[in-house]
This record gives sequence, C-alpha cells and structure tokens, in this order.
Amino acid sequence: NSESNSQLALCDVSVSFGGFVAVSGLDLAVDRGELRCLIGPNGAGKTTALDLICGKTRVSGGEIRFEGRPIHELKEYEIARAGIGRKFQVPSVFRELTVRENLQIGRSHHTGVFANLVRFGGSTDDNEVERLAELVGLSDALEMAAAHLSHGQTQWLEIALILAQDPALILMDEPTAGMTGQETHKTAELFNRLRGQHTLIVVEHDMGFVRDIAETISVMHQGKLLAEGTLDEVSSDQRVREAYLGS
Ligand code: ADP
Repeated sequence: NSESNSQLALCDVSVSFGGFVAVSGLDLAVDRGELRCLIGPNGAGKTTALDLICGKTRVSGGEIRFEGRPIHELKEYEIARAGIGRKFQVPSVFRELTVRENLQIGRSHHTGVFANLVRFGGSTDDNEVERLAELVGLSDALEMAAAHLSHGQTQWLEIALILAQDPALILMDEPTAGMTGQETHKTAELFNRLRGQHTLIVVEHDMGFVRDIAETISVMHQGKLLAEGTLDEVSSDQRVREAYLGS
C-alpha cells in the first residue's frame, strides 16, 4: 500500500488561517474502497483536512493527489467532478419536495438536465432513484415530504443525494451527530453496505460507531497524523491517550 498506489494521498499538506496553523505536514494515504475513520481531539484539524481534500479550503503547502493526479489546485466543482463527494453536517435537501423528487433532482445533476428531459416511460432513472432509496432505507418514505423526515432519515437522504452523483470517494463529517442509538446503528449498517463500492473517509466522535465500521483509523492531533491502525491499536497508543487527555 505505498502512497503512490493510493487512491488519495495527502503529502506534507499544511494550511494556516492568519497566523494559526490548523493543518501542518499532514500525510494521509487511503486506498480505493477503504472505509477510513478520522478521529482526534477537538481542534485537531479533521474538518479542515476534509475541506482541503474537497477544495473548500486551499492548501498553503504540500500536495494532494487523487487517482494519480494532483487536485490541490483545482476548484471545488472540478474536484467534485473528478469524483469526490462531500457530506456536510447541515443537510441541503429540498424540504418541501418528496424524497423521490429530491433524488430525481440529485440524479439529474449527475446525468445532466437534457438526459432528464428526454424521458421514456419507466426510465432507468426511476429504477436508480428507487435503488438509492432502498440502499439508505427510505423506500417507505419515497412519497413523503423531506420536511417530515426524522433527523436520521434526513441524513440518509443527504447521503443518497451524494450517492446519486456516484463519487469514487465520499467525505463525511460526523454523519451520526444528533442521531438516536438506533439511527446510528442503521447508519453503521448502511456504511457496511457501501464498503468497497465507494471509498469513504469519515470524521467521527462516536467510538461505538467507529468500532462498528472502521478497519483503519487515522488519529489527528495538532494538525498532524499522530497514529494509524485498528481501533484497538490506536486506543492503546500512549501518544493517542495523551492527546485526548490534553484536549
Ligand atoms: P477538528 O475538526 O479536528 O475539530 P478543525 O479542522 O475544525 O478541527 O479546526 C482546526 C483548528 O483550526 C481549530 O483550532 C480551528 O479553530 C481552526 N480553524 C478552522 N477553520 C478556521 C478558519 N476558517 N479560520 C480560522 N481558524 C480556523
């Protein structure tokens, strides 16, 4: 798993805001199809790392490569087009539209408006919308207005909207925040279904959830990679313990 073969590689990436160094000499390599959890104390730079990958924030130094090609100088929409999707914590669903309509719009962004206009009865896109709804557990809610979904269901719709773009890599920032225990459990099941189909990088605080989904965990501290390994490996690492105690 050398860095050159990784789907995503951050090499010595840094960014400062004013004089404050939020990410400093960060190295991170993720293989295609991996489900990687990114953990670390508050302020470690996890969200900033996702912002750098998706181009929301520009690197001050270093390099980010995706599928062999440097992306750190591309614009956010170009990075999205290259196959990197990002789920933000605040959902961007159309609340007054149904789940089905939301997914249809999500699909039309992918296939293009023209393809969406040229419809032949029972288009394959309807099948795709229904497949996405089933994947995220919203088959029974297809005709429901998004405004009436629970918090967890809204998050799953948001995930389905990202999946509608079929990105090779999906970045998620605290996907289980605010979810009930049962919703968190269902989200872990969903992520396990997505495993291997898409590469996932998930910033997460809920260690029970991390245990349910992750193979490899990367621990950030003070803008750097502090440790990497299984949950058992990183949680028994003295440096990781100290980083959490000191936060
Ligand atoms: P984490 O996600 O690990 O909690 P963040 O990436 O959100 O950490 O933040 C890392 C550090 O960078 C924090 O100290 C935060 O206050 C700072 N930071 C993040 N974004 C900005 C910004 N746009 N301007 C100034 N400081 C920022």
